[in-house]
Amino acid sequence: MSDTMIEVGVEATQDAEEIPLLFLHQIERTYKQGDEALHILNSAELAIWAGQSVALVGPSGAGKSTLLHIAGLLEHPDHGEVYIDGRATAALPDHERTRIRRNEIGFVYQSHHLLPEFTAIENVLLPQMIRGLARGEAKKRAVELLDYLGLANRLNHRPTELSGGEQQRVAIARAVANAPRILLADEPTGNLDVHTADHVFAALTQLVRASGLATIIATHNMELAARMDRRVTIKEGLVVELD
Ligand code: ADP
Ligand code: MG
Repeated sequence: MSDTMIEVGVEATQDAEEIPLLFLHQIERTYKQGDEALHILNSAELAIWAGQSVALVGPSGAGKSTLLHIAGLLEHPDHGEVYIDGRATAALPDHERTRIRRNEIGFVYQSHHLLPEFTAIENVLLPQMIRGLARGEAKKRAVELLDYLGLANRLNHRPTELSGGEQQRVAIARAVANAPRILLADEPTGNLDVHTADHVFAALTQLVRASGLATIIATHNMELAARMDRRVTIKEGLVVELD
């Protein structure tokens, strides 16, 4: 991986007076399980500023994916508000939420979800073209990002021709292809062996630092979590800051 800075989103800011890029306010989410109500999130609060990386840790079933889906506007909370760069999103029409999601938010899942019939480079340039970029421009950025993530020699490989770690690095490149300001990753190294997970995580955190993204990464791995700026968990429906 090269050490050169790469422009992905906004510049990092240390100014605490700035409004958070992502602000979850009084988020409630309840699932019905038979006759029982599962209060997964119960007035949860979380604010993340540009340039900040937050590890979301906690056992399986704690509500990490639920929180990320709500933060990523993939799911509506039952109550509460998600502010993206100060803008309330709950009452926005679906097409506007989709627009914000496409332009401002990148998502990385545990499985890569790459399109199998397309090459690495095509997987990264497609979201940019959907957004309206010309193919040449999109391709240039795709090459830049893949190169940054150490995949310069894998540009024309299809997902099945890539290792698990390489697939996840392509998925990371795709997630930031449209220069989002927020990156959400749901156990992005959960399917990888320890060594590969370490490598992918290093690539991810370097990208986050260089780009000033506001990032939440859900992970079970406390060693990886220790490398982030902040660590939070979900306890009794609340987001709790660790150490
Ligand atoms: P985590 O990602 O931390 O493992 P999740 O957010 O996926 O946790 O899930 C939190 C809890 O909510 C789990 O107990 C899960 O079974 C429950 N849950 C998640 N989604 C649904 C759903 N659509 N319907 C009912 N229960 C759900
Ligand atoms: Mg989960």
